Amino acid sequence: MSDKTLFETLSYSPKHVNEALSPELVKEAFNYCEGYKNFLSLGKTERESCALSKKIAEENGFVELCKKDTLKPGDKVYTINNKKAILLAIIGKDSIENGVNLVGSHIDSPRIDLKSRPLFEDENMAWFKTQYYGGIKKYQWLALPLAMHGTICKTDGTSVDICIGEDESDPVFTITDLLPHLSQDQMQQQLAKAFDADNFHVLLGSMAKGDDEIKEKVKFNVLSMLYDKYGVTEQDFTSAEIEFVPSGKARDVGLDRGFIGSYGQDDRVCAYASLKAITDACKNDIPNKTAMCMLVDKEEIGSMGQTGMRSRFFELTLCEIISKLTGSCDAYELNRTLSNSDCLSADVGAAYDPQYPSVHDKKNAGFAGRGVLISKYTGGRGKSDSSDANAEFVARIRKIFNDNDVLWQNGELGKVDVGGGGTIAQYVANLGLNVLDCGTPILCMHAPFELASKFDCYMTYKAYLAFFEA
Ligand code: MN
Ligand code: MN
Repeated sequence: MSDKTLFETLSYSPKHVNEALSPELVKEAFNYCEGYKNFLSLGKTERESCALSKKIAEENGFVELCKKDTLKPGDKVYTINNKKAILLAIIGKDSIENGVNLVGSHIDSPRIDLKSRPLFEDENMAWFKTQYYGGIKKYQWLALPLAMHGTICKTDGTSVDICIGEDESDPVFTITDLLPHLSQDQMQQQLAKAFDADNFHVLLGSMAKGDDEIKEKVKFNVLSMLYDKYGVTEQDFTSAEIEFVPSGKARDVGLDRGFIGSYGQDDRVCAYASLKAITDACKNDIPNKTAMCMLVDKEEIGSMGQTGMRSRFFELTLCEIISKLTGSCDAYELNRTLSNSDCLSADVGAAYDPQYPSVHDKKNAGFAGRGVLISKYTGGRGKSDSSDANAEFVARIRKIFNDNDVLWQNGELGKVDVGGGGTIAQYVANLGLNVLDCGTPILCMHAPFELASKFDCYMTYKAYLAFFEA
């Protein structure tokens, strides 16, 4: 063996897809991404993504878990948590107490929510007051076409779903920004302080209705239009979940169309990959281990609450599945299943951005085009708020990816002292499962327009598929 060959055998650096870019791979990845772009364009909120995932599950033969009294290997089931989270499962051949293979992602994304008393009029314009959801750089959300998505629940028990600003013929909405000519003082401020969240007002209307008896004629016009179209009054906003998100569909980016640009790729890129993987897994066979794909809500605000990963949704669903398989599920059986289970925490990572090299440790960064990204640990600084995966588990996953031609890389979010971020991994790990962060590297994370390499999207799917079929 020559020294060169020996060095190549002994050393490791993740390969870029461009080192072996075949027409077949381009075709496979691009085909896969057409379905993914559709998933992005049709589901922009957790409710919409959940409903869309339910539809995809049913089209692929998954049946609602509550409709089955008993379960057997090969059965495909799904269950939904409050219209905002969904879990799909294929029952495996192996005894469930030997553990399941779970891929967990989230379908909430940073956005602009409404305050609970949002509507007001100022200077012949009607506005909504807002509160942002998740970590945003506020300036990115100004002077941008926004669409209104959401649900308003009325006291008679009915609700209306709203989606305005996605169809070409729809109006859009926007939050105004200050002209540069008068921004002299603003430009001197720190970025974090230059934009006051309490001044984030969405422009709703500008035309009057009514006679001089009415003081707020534009607000009156807006309320009348909302009542005529949806039958809602101002008090109904008390029980509404309205989200403003960037208007428009997912697009190809670049002359060669190698990237996808869209709102909400964190974390629908992994949600779609895991959903597609579980519907494609073991097409003509039954998986050894029970395969589970879970799409949860509230990750962007800390996974708290009824529909987040810190809820008991996963445990209770697993308990229901064990009961329907074995006739019972006590704490001991549930615990044994949990601690024998494996999980890929399917969330995006930061791709190295050559425009901002100073925040990355280039030798430990994820890169667009180098495949699915595994991160042994997340968090920043002293690994606080981190789930540090077991080396034994990482070795097993590495072998699965190597054996199945999955292009993968390993890396962490950024420089140790620069910042950090968490995923659902720590909450799953607290239940006793082996957990590894494994997802798609993203550029412009949390921006209204995030970027992902089509090959990384496709490799993320291949990774989850290999994991389910292992
Ligand atoms: Mn995420
Ligand atoms: Mn995020």
